[in-house]
Amino acid sequence: MIRELHQKLVAGECTAVSLVEQYFAVIEKQEGEILAFLTLRKEQALEEARAVDQRIASGEAIDLLSGIPGALKDNILLAGVRATSASKVLDSYIAPYDATVVARLKAVQAVFLGKTNMDEFALGSSTESSAYQVTKNPADVTRVPGGTSGGSAAAVASGEVVWALGSDTGGSIRQPAAFCGVVGLKPTYGRVSRYGLMAGASSLDQIGPIARTVEDVAIVFSRIAGRDPHDATTADSGHEKRYEDFLDSDIKGKKIGVPKEYFSENLDPRIRALTDAALERFRTLGAEVKEISLPHSSYALPCYYIIQPCEVSSNLARYDGIRYGLSVNDDAPSGPRTSGLLETYLDTRRHGLGPEVKRRIMLGTHSLSSGYYDAYYLKAQKVRALLKQDFEQSFNEVDFIFSPTTPEPAFKIGEKTTDPLKMYLGDIYTVTANLTGVPALSFPIGTVAEEGKDLPIGGQLMGRWFDEEGLLALAHAFETKR
Ligand code: GLN
Repeated sequence: MIRELHQKLVAGECTAVSLVEQYFAVIEKQEGEILAFLTLRKEQALEEARAVDQRIASGEAIDLLSGIPGALKDNILLAGVRATSASKVLDSYIAPYDATVVARLKAVQAVFLGKTNMDEFALGSSTESSAYQVTKNPADVTRVPGGTSGGSAAAVASGEVVWALGSDTGGSIRQPAAFCGVVGLKPTYGRVSRYGLMAGASSLDQIGPIARTVEDVAIVFSRIAGRDPHDATTADSGHEKRYEDFLDSDIKGKKIGVPKEYFSENLDPRIRALTDAALERFRTLGAEVKEISLPHSSYALPCYYIIQPCEVSSNLARYDGIRYGLSVNDDAPSGPRTSGLLETYLDTRRHGLGPEVKRRIMLGTHSLSSGYYDAYYLKAQKVRALLKQDFEQSFNEVDFIFSPTTPEPAFKIGEKTTDPLKMYLGDIYTVTANLTGVPALSFPIGTVAEEGKDLPIGGQLMGRWFDEEGLLALAHAFETKR
C-alpha cells in the first residue's frame, strides 16, 4: 500500500495534500462510530503534506513514507499536541518535545493525522479502560478492537490511516492487530527508542508499527528503529537496514517451532484449524515445522502480572498533581486552597486515575512492599530468567516459534469489564515475548464467523533477538506467495 501511494505521489497522480484530504474524508464519515482518535490535527497534517508536495515539485527525491498519512498512539509524544494516554490525569497535558520515533518519522516527512485512543496508561486488553471513549472494532462494531493500542489498530483497519504506531508491554500491538485483521510488530526489546513514550513497565515496553501489510510494517519499522542516545536501553545493533528491501529472502529450510504447551485441548477448534492451515502453508513455502516444548509456559502469565504491575506502580508515581497535568488544587473553584501536600497527591490520583490503573498500582505496590518483595517480585524475576532459558534452548533447534496471537476472536464490548482476571487470561500467548525480549509479529491467518460477521484471527511468529528481518520475510511470504 505505502509503495503504491508513494509511486502515485512521485508520478504526480496524487498529491500529499490530496491524500490527507482523502483520509480525512474517511475519518469524517466513520469516526462517529469507530471512535479511534482522541485528537485530530487536520490543519497541521495539511501543512506537513504541503512541505512534501513542494519537495516533489522541486524535483527532490522523497522517502517511501513521505506524505503517507499515519497516526500515533496517545502515549507517544508529538511536540505541541495533547498527549493524555487516555487518562483524565493528563487531560490538559501538551507534549513538550517529540519522542525519538516521532523525530525520526518527521525526518522522512511522514504525516500525522492524529493521536489514537488506548486503554488508560496502556493497561488493559480492549481499549475499554480509556477515560474518554470506547473504540469499536471495524469488523463488528459491537466488539472491542483489542487493546491497548485499539485506536491505532481500528484506525488502520477502517482505512482512516495507512499506518499507525502502538506500544506493546504484554501484547498491546499484536492483540489489537489480530482482533482487527491487520499486521502488528513488537520489536526486540532495545530495538526502538522509548524516549518520549510514557513509561508503563520499562523492562517490557516497546513501540512498534501497525499496518495493513507486512511490507508496510517493515517500511515504518525501518524508519523508527536504531540506537538512540536518549534511551540507554537501545541496542547498537549495527547498521539499520531498510527492511522492506529484504522481504524476499529465502525461507526454504527455515524451521518453525510449534510449542506443544500453546496448543492444548482447550484451544478453540476454529482457531486450531486456522493455525493448522497456516502451518501447512508454511510447509508448502519450504519451511520445516517441528513440535517444541517451552516447559515454563504456564508461569508466563502469573509472572507478567507481578512484574508488570510492580513497574507500573513505580512509573505512575509521577502523576502526583505536582509534576504533570491535573492537580485537584489548580482545578478547584476559586477560594482559599485548603488541601495540604498529602491531600493534593491523594485527591489528584483519586480523581485522575481510573479503576484498572488503581488496581495495577495496588497489585504492584503490594508485591514490592517489604515482606512480599521476595515472595512475589524476586520470585517472578527468577521465573522470567527460566522463560528466557526456554527460548534460548528452543532457538538452538528452530528459527521461529508460531502460535495463535489470542485464544479467541474479538469479544463483545462490556463482556469482560467486570472480571479483570478474564481480561488478563486473554494475554496468554503475547506476554512471553515481552518477558524474554524477543521480537514478535501478528498477522492475519483467516476469520471465524460469529453472528453473521467475519472476525479476524491472528497468527503470531516470534523470532530470535534482533531477527526482525527473518520474521518479516516469513510473514511476507505467507501473505504474498500462494
Ligand atoms: N493486556 C496487557 C496488560 O493489560 C498488555 C498491555 C500492553 O501491552 N500495554 O497489561
